[in-house]
Amino acid sequence: MSVDHRKERLSSGLLHREPLIFERGSAGRVGCSLPEADVPEATAAIDPALLRAEPPLLPEVSEPEATRHFTRLSQWNFAIDLGMYPLGSCTMKYNPKNNERAARMPGFANLHPALGPEHLQGALALMWRLERALCEITGFGRATLQPAAGAQGELAGLMMIRAYHVDRHRSPSKVLIPDSAHGTNPASCTVNGFATVPLPTGARGTLDLDTVRKAISDDVAAIMITNPSTVGLFEDQIAEIAELVHAHGALVYMDGANLNALLGQFRPGDHGVDCLHINLHKTFTTPHGGGGPGAGPVAVAPGLVPFLPTPTVESTGDDYRLDFDRPKSIGRVRAFFGNFGMFVRAYTYIREMGADGLKAATEMAVLNANYLKARLQAHYHTPYDRACMHEVVVSDQRLKKETGVQTLDVAKRLMDHGFHPPTIYFPLIVMGALMIEPTETETLETLDELADALVAIAEEARTDPETVKAAPHTTGLRRLDETLAARKPRLRYTREG
Ligand SMILES: *Cc1c(COP(=O)(O)O)cnc(C)c1O
Repeated sequence: MSVDHRKERLSSGLLHREPLIFERGSAGRVGCSLPEADVPEATAAIDPALLRAEPPLLPEVSEPEATRHFTRLSQWNFAIDLGMYPLGSCTMKYNPKNNERAARMPGFANLHPALGPEHLQGALALMWRLERALCEITGFGRATLQPAAGAQGELAGLMMIRAYHVDRHRSPSKVLIPDSAHGTNPASCTVNGFATVPLPTGARGTLDLDTVRKAISDDVAAIMITNPSTVGLFEDQIAEIAELVHAHGALVYMDGANLNALLGQFRPGDHGVDCLHINLHKTFTTPHGGGGPGAGPVAVAPGLVPFLPTPTVESTGDDYRLDFDRPKSIGRVRAFFGNFGMFVRAYTYIREMGADGLKAATEMAVLNANYLKARLQAHYHTPYDRACMHEVVVSDQRLKKETGVQTLDVAKRLMDHGFHPPTIYFPLIVMGALMIEPTETETLETLDELADALVAIAEEARTDPETVKAAPHTTGLRRLDETLAARKPRLRYTREG
């Protein structure tokens, strides 16, 4: 049953509640005026079986009602432009406005992707230069910009790896994946028809060479390693692991979603990695989440270049052209060229930062995470007693035993302190994990405010645990049923409600 919001209070001060747009307005109300049709109605030619019996159920609201509805909803959003967004694994760093200015330049924004290369020279030049920059940063020769997300980059990378083996008349069936991997890794393997073999991470939180040695065989197509791993630790045996894996004819896929920790410090291509995806929307400040589409370029070692998606962008001096004539290619993985607007933003960022700036960004990201670790470790259990990379994982292990307050309660209470909660209960190998990624774009003052809030919550858990468990107290809605919306989704509005 829908609630009759007309009878309810719709606001508490200036904090508005917002019903569905279908629950607003009244029958027959319209928000725009259209001219009379100046062509005859064409219904006679349409098969009556295809016509609806009733007009569609559309919202009937005025223009101000529609505007206010969506503006209010937009105000409920939390965004990186509103405050710190310490969501571990997601690299929610600030997106410089200069990127937006560049992406909106009419020459880029108004280009039609179906134009021939002779009309796309500027766009192709940008794509070529972005590919060069990403290759320089990661230590590879070629890359594809097509995939629209990290996960699609994984898919494209694994398709190339499969094609590589088939080209050698091999058909290995397995991919090795550490148990700390992002969920997209095993998913990409499964979609590609590979069986995944999970590898346990060692006591130090990283993958041991011996573990790989036990699992490797000639039936392994690749190993997929996230570096730094999802627990924010650097996989320092990756070069030795690569050597071992190569000796069995398998390849090394590196999940590079955490590249923010490596800029100017470590080039995967120099250490035996064959295939790497890069999340422009994480590392190179293109908006993501609710802010925009992603882009997951994939860089490859020479052995995989023939299998890159078509078309590739090629340059002959001052001229740029598209190469479709690549017989071993896995084909196109995305319409046209990928999310081109994201390429403009990422390229703008890379050029604005320069090599020194990118290196400094990584240094600050790692320093910031370690600063938070140092400030939090007396108050929260820290599972790994070593320096972290760009993100820090703490857990509720001690707090829960001593006060009954759990990770979820801490995350909810953090909202009362004005912070978006960090990633919780991930990675799965750390029970009750809180995974915090401050990124380099936050100031020392903001880091201290977050640390102060988390310390205050840990102290409050000792003196007044019930208040923490009932949080949040200051938001429009309080604690929600975490699963109801997924288990009983209401996807269609009917007149009956
Ligand atoms: C974000 C992330 C992915 C997936 O990237 P999407 O762009 O969200 O598809 C894969 N692996 C890791 C480690 C990530 O952090």
